[in-house]
Amino acid sequence: MSSFFAKGSKLILIFFLTIFVSGSILTYLSIQNISNYKELTEKKVIEEELALAERFSKDFQNELTAMIQIFTNYVQDDSLVNLDRLKNTVTMQEIKYRFALDKNGVYHWPHFVNNKFKINTKTSSNSYILNLKKAENNEFILRDFKNAKKNYLKTLIIAKNKSDSVYVFNALARLYVKLDQPKKAVYYYTKIINDFGNTTNNFRFPYAYFAASKLLTIQNVDLNTEIKKPLISFLIKLSDGSIPLNDSSAELLSQIAVWAQQLTAKKDVELIENLIARTNVFIDGFNNYNKPVFDILQTNDSTSTTERIDDFYVIKPLSEKYDELFLFKKNKIISFGFSVSLMVIFDLVVQNQVSDNMNFQYQIKLIPNDRIGYTTSSYLETSSNFSPYFTNHKVQINLLNEEIVEEYVFRKKLFYGLGLMLLLGTMILGLVVLIQDVQRKKHMAKLRDDFVSNVTHELKTPLTSINMFADSILLGRVKTDKDLKKYANIIVKESEKLKRMITNILDFSKTENDKLAYNLKECNLSEIVIATLEEMKYWLEINSFKTTVEVEKNVIVMADAEGIQQALYNLISNAIKFSISKKELHIRLFKKDFNTFLEIEDSGIGIPKENIGHIFDKFYRVNSKENETISGTGLGLTVTRDIIEAQNGQLKVNSTFGKGSKFTIIITT
Ligand code: ADP
Repeated sequence: MSSFFAKGSKLILIFFLTIFVSGSILTYLSIQNISNYKELTEKKVIEEELALAERFSKDFQNELTAMIQIFTNYVQDDSLVNLDRLKNTVTMQEIKYRFALDKNGVYHWPHFVNNKFKINTKTSSNSYILNLKKAENNEFILRDFKNAKKNYLKTLIIAKNKSDSVYVFNALARLYVKLDQPKKAVYYYTKIINDFGNTTNNFRFPYAYFAASKLLTIQNVDLNTEIKKPLISFLIKLSDGSIPLNDSSAELLSQIAVWAQQLTAKKDVELIENLIARTNVFIDGFNNYNKPVFDILQTNDSTSTTERIDDFYVIKPLSEKYDELFLFKKNKIISFGFSVSLMVIFDLVVQNQVSDNMNFQYQIKLIPNDRIGYTTSSYLETSSNFSPYFTNHKVQINLLNEEIVEEYVFRKKLFYGLGLMLLLGTMILGLVVLIQDVQRKKHMAKLRDDFVSNVTHELKTPLTSINMFADSILLGRVKTDKDLKKYANIIVKESEKLKRMITNILDFSKTENDKLAYNLKECNLSEIVIATLEEMKYWLEINSFKTTVEVEKNVIVMADAEGIQQALYNLISNAIKFSISKKELHIRLFKKDFNTFLEIEDSGIGIPKENIGHIFDKFYRVNSKENETISGTGLGLTVTRDIIEAQNGQLKVNSTFGKGSKFTIIITT
């Protein structure tokens, strides 16, 4: 038993130390963790941003490669069929503009005329040249405009080709300006634009350009509506390629834009501006890429140092202004070029990007290199290069909502704090439960210890008596028959006591193993009570008890006679044991309603109120001054209650400390 105590104390100590040490470590780590949490979270944010930037860079490259694959499909056949396909069907928004040109650099699409390339002049008829000279002589030398007009009209009739005709129409328009008949001049210029858009002079310069620029010089507000119409048709033809673009297109377009400002209808201004913008995109493209494209066309492929992606030459933007890339496929017959817009690829990548596995939400922006660091004041932003082809920009990633970090950190701290408190609380609770359990076990062990010495003592007392009286008889010290009978009676009574005690211990052992069971039979309780009292008579008498008995006759109950006797014996024994000064015993047996009551009442020492709840516990004995000298095992009441309850009865107690106790057995009939 004592080893158990030592074990229990050691267990508590080990457990306590474990909890203390692990609790302290946990608390320390958690506090460290909580205080570093902001830093850790910020680190995580930066890590996620870098991961996102890396993914962006990869996706960007993939998107570009996919786009190039599509271009490759369009231009894989080196033929004019492809050119038509390209002109009419490629509507990819990623392509800002595109062009196709032959090995000499002549533009097939859009229509762009490079003045460097002269064409053979068409030969006109002699009569045409003769008449024309006559008319020009009238106009410029003689300033005889009337005859000049007549001769121009004559020349027009004999003009055999478009270029001859348009030359004369141009002269007539010029003449009408000189004649101060602007309306007629506008008529002829309109005709040139509408019918001779494609027709150029010997320097491949389209007459429509002359016509458009002349129209702009006619300072007659009344004719603005008339002038607007050919100008709009000029712009439409420029943008759809039916009037070729050339090096002077940009200049003319800006003049038209200025002229359009005087128009009163806003719709017209907008229409003109849109048409100009559309055409300007192409002009920009030519200006930017004409030279590198010509260089590529003239170089031998094997010596070219220009960068390539698949079959395409990559022409990088010439200045920071350009957020596009030009991809050029050099073919034997027709070569193709596409410009792809950085922002459009960016939008595609961002649209398709999934930000899974991320704790936070980010925004992705493209920032020109010189603006890096100025766009936000966030310290949680990262910027990095994303493509070897767009080195003028960086991808910048920052948190969508920076406050969310604070919230996140707060929530995590709260979570950790509460978790820690819960953990420590549980540990302390565990410790308390363990201490209680160990204490209870200690207490039980002490009770068992006491029980062993008590039971030994209890058994020894009657045995000593029996031994002593039997010895006296054997040694012949008993002289009279009366004494012999008296001694024999003592031996019988003490052995009965011994038997009852042993029965108690056996019954207790049975209840501990759940084996206490009775075979209930109909029996006469009145007779059982009388018989038990008879058995106890000796003890009551030698203890000078005043006994009153009120027993109803023939009270029949379903019970086990032996068990009831044992219980009654125990209760009367207690009444005798725990009555010191006033020795009275009242036994009552009566029926009331459907119950049978058997009361055993004494006027003994009584039981203190605070102990009453425990008297049925095993090994329990009230620890008071009065009880000190009274021996016992603490089993009597435990066994008695078990016996009664095993017979479906109840055992109740009613006691006042110092006045006496009443135990009642209630059996339901
Ligand atoms: P034991 O009598 O062997 O001590 P019991 O189980 O019979 O054990 O009784 C438990 C305790 O209850 C006793 O030690 C005693 O303190 C108290 N007790 C029982 N019966 C009486 C009684 N009639 N009067 C006063 N105290 C009693």
